[in-house]
Amino acid sequence: MQNSTKIIATLGPSSFAPQEITDLINAGVDCFRVNFSHGDGNAHQPHIDAVRAASKILNVHIPILADIQGPKIRVGNMPREGARLIEGEQFILTGEDVETGSAKIANTSYQFLTRDAGPGTRILLAEGTIELHVEKIQGKEVLCRVITGGLLFSHKGLNMPGTRMSVETLTEKDVADLAFISESDIDMVAISFVRSVEDLNQARRLLLGKKIPVMAKLERPEALENLDAILDASDGVMIARGDLGVEMNFETIPVLQKKILQKAAVRGKWVIVATQMLGSMVNSPRPSRAEVSDVANAVLDGTDAVMLSEETATGKYPTEAVDAMARIVQEAESILPHSVPEFDADIMTFAAGAAGAAVSAAERIHAKAIIALAGSGVTALLLSKWRPSIPILALSAHEPTLRRLNVLRGVIPVKILEKSDMETQIRMADGCLIQKKRAEAGDPVIVVAAIPLGQKKETNTIRFHKVRSQDAAPI
Ligand code: PGA
Ligand code: MN
Repeated sequence: MQNSTKIIATLGPSSFAPQEITDLINAGVDCFRVNFSHGDGNAHQPHIDAVRAASKILNVHIPILADIQGPKIRVGNMPREGARLIEGEQFILTGEDVETGSAKIANTSYQFLTRDAGPGTRILLAEGTIELHVEKIQGKEVLCRVITGGLLFSHKGLNMPGTRMSVETLTEKDVADLAFISESDIDMVAISFVRSVEDLNQARRLLLGKKIPVMAKLERPEALENLDAILDASDGVMIARGDLGVEMNFETIPVLQKKILQKAAVRGKWVIVATQMLGSMVNSPRPSRAEVSDVANAVLDGTDAVMLSEETATGKYPTEAVDAMARIVQEAESILPHSVPEFDADIMTFAAGAAGAAVSAAERIHAKAIIALAGSGVTALLLSKWRPSIPILALSAHEPTLRRLNVLRGVIPVKILEKSDMETQIRMADGCLIQKKRAEAGDPVIVVAAIPLGQKKETNTIRFHKVRSQDAAPI
């Protein structure tokens, strides 16, 4: 069996090696995230090339998701062993250069810190493990009192929950990274710390007409205030629980996750649940039982994809983490009924109608698969939103389209020859189903198409078909 829910793995030192990439794909990775918080486009190019090379050998269509850093604020250099901030003591955050910070002072490069913070501002460091309250601003220094102490290491994150930030969402580095992406063959982009629709529009402008899916990372309270508009303006969202759980009270995250997934489903948008999903597997070959439940619950909430971060980027057990995720996902899916998405009025198209009709017809005839013949990919997306328990084969002749289709829940992309006619496409799909052992000759399947093919028509046809055995295999 293969999972329907897709698995995204973040590349990093633990997974850059070609053999690691191959192992991760074999363990179940459907998409790799390249994290632009570490390095620029040129630094990442060899890793992107390595994914392309491994995909070619394995004959899979694995997309690259570029994650743009955004205005993540960090502290500067700290001692190797960290510095312990003590409750009740004073601690200074300064805009001045500090070679190495200490238990008394640290540098931060955030130029507006003295403007945005004021007496009483809450500052959280290192994923919220350390809490400071601002007492006074003095020149370039923010004088704080340590409310909760802890060990502070170099380059740890700094959050100011509830404080409006002056900084633009897209930083200078982001602008340069988006320019790189606009010229690269990267398949999708995620924008960090999105606050408004304008942030997404700006990102699209900076992509200079390159038409790739743009995902909004939901990690700021402002994004949740503007959620409906952000969903409409994006191709999908990432529930970025790491920063979100620092910016908002952590107990709000599970309910938010469910609400976001419900809203995204009716709009036909793609959702990734991210961060700390199997966090303990950074150091352990087995997940904690709570993590197992978290991954399973994300599947049961109806997410399209689950994501691994440090687990595969810097962890000791990257392949084990993907393997564990695949096993958990598969088990959870066994009790997940298909959904009945009440699509918004503006996506009440023939494609949406055909998707619903195809899923219910497939159930009635116990079809083994639904086959979406080559088109824009919209039919595959809408079929995916119904979350049928059987695979959706999505056909295309174009590698970038095939890679994009690979992130859709339940979708298996199948490569066909350019300008293949309907019968040839169905024969290719049959061959693929037999080869992947997803169906046998004589099994019923449903075919959805916009005919005549290749003319950008609206979806207009549902066909009942029995798989035929032949020697044609997918190319
Ligand atoms: P990050 O985003 O890994 O880029 O910080 C994800 C998150 O904040 O959850
Ligand atoms: Mn984040």
